[in-house]
Amino acid sequence: MGDTTTPTMPEAPSIQSPTTPTSPAAGYSKHIVLTTYPGQSGIDPVPLVWGAPDAKSRGPVIVTRGAGMLKRRNAMGAHGGSYSIYNALAIAAGELDANFRPNLQNSQPTFNFPWQPAWADKTKIVSMDPFGHDIVNQFREELDAGWDIRPTMAVTRANMKLAEIGEAVRNGQLDVDGSIVVDSSGEVRVTKVAVEPVWYLPGVAERFGVDEGTLRRTLFEHTGGSYPELITRPDLKVFLPPIGGLTVYIFGPPERVSDENVKLALRIHDECNGSDVFQSDICTCRPYLAFGIREAIREAQNGGSGVVIYFRKEGRALGEVIKYLVYNARKRGGDTADKYFTRTENIAGVRDMRFQALMPDILHWLGIKKVDRMLSMSNMKHDAIVQSGIKILERVPIPEELIPSDSRVEIDAKINAGYFTTGRQYTMEELAAVKGRGWEKWEDVTH
Ligand SMILES: [Zn+2]
Repeated sequence: MGDTTTPTMPEAPSIQSPTTPTSPAAGYSKHIVLTTYPGQSGIDPVPLVWGAPDAKSRGPVIVTRGAGMLKRRNAMGAHGGSYSIYNALAIAAGELDANFRPNLQNSQPTFNFPWQPAWADKTKIVSMDPFGHDIVNQFREELDAGWDIRPTMAVTRANMKLAEIGEAVRNGQLDVDGSIVVDSSGEVRVTKVAVEPVWYLPGVAERFGVDEGTLRRTLFEHTGGSYPELITRPDLKVFLPPIGGLTVYIFGPPERVSDENVKLALRIHDECNGSDVFQSDICTCRPYLAFGIREAIREAQNGGSGVVIYFRKEGRALGEVIKYLVYNARKRGGDTADKYFTRTENIAGVRDMRFQALMPDILHWLGIKKVDRMLSMSNMKHDAIVQSGIKILERVPIPEELIPSDSRVEIDAKINAGYFTTGRQYTMEELAAVKGRGWEKWEDVTH
């Protein structure tokens, strides 16, 4: 444990509200508890033993400050990831009762994922609650007693339709099997798992090779001091950070995912809204995603399993504002592949903030032991998965014909920087000749 978690403010951890009045409608007292301390009177967190073999001995994650639970909470942050702020807004606006309890009837998973040894291994899963989908079953008594315990995962099923999949069916690249691909329009059945982040801080710190105290202090400082218990409560080890989570898309029977005897095709995809949804052609994100879905379906149709995992890490986790600033710098500065990474580093300070260290958790949760076909060229993803103990048997790059011409700058720069390819790697001189589209004709749009 780091030394920076020692409380530095020994006085009473609360103040009287100064000049800002709180509306009585919000139901808050004048007394605001800014933070808590381990030895403080009444502080008695519900035991939470990360890595325990089952949900009951592990204990529920309790993050609420409401309804008398402030002294019993065993985690920091709030439910909902980035949406925790909207939840607060809804309460502030009087649209939502601060003491609202969800009625979770019929919300249980559509598939019961089998327990995996990794669920009880505090080194294998550190960024999600392995029992987060099964709260209603596991903590019925506590829920009945009025405790605010919420699922941090949900499992459902859906039909989906992608233009590229319809095209693959028409081209004869995919068959209609009536079960996975339902009809000739390319309608596909899928099992989906949504996961919100739940961080076990000692495990997260270890993944990044920093001490827990440094991690806590940094999270505290760079969220504007939003979570003081990161500093004052070293005994609380679990943090629900205000960031996006991930979605798992499973093609074919979900029970096959953990079956070592069948083949698995896997794409790990990080969000790129501009390309994924709006089909901007400056990068290869949507084409690679659609290719990944196609290959995942194909593997499932062949008796194996296909999995696509979608992480909310927009623009290499730099966000869209940074991403567009970089686009401008690229287009104005001569968009060539040799300068691709420098443009990002100039504006963001780093070329990538996705840090794949936490990514493999979901693979271990699913019980994946090996990946037969990895539909990704990223070395960071490959290395993170392999280092976590999962074998990758084959790496499959995006087919040349799916690469939009304006995205050559990005893909060739990445290949030069060590991304996996079965094709040729360009030299720096050659990269200087790989140019993206300019803006020459763009002023026309305004006339
Ligand atoms: Zn993209």
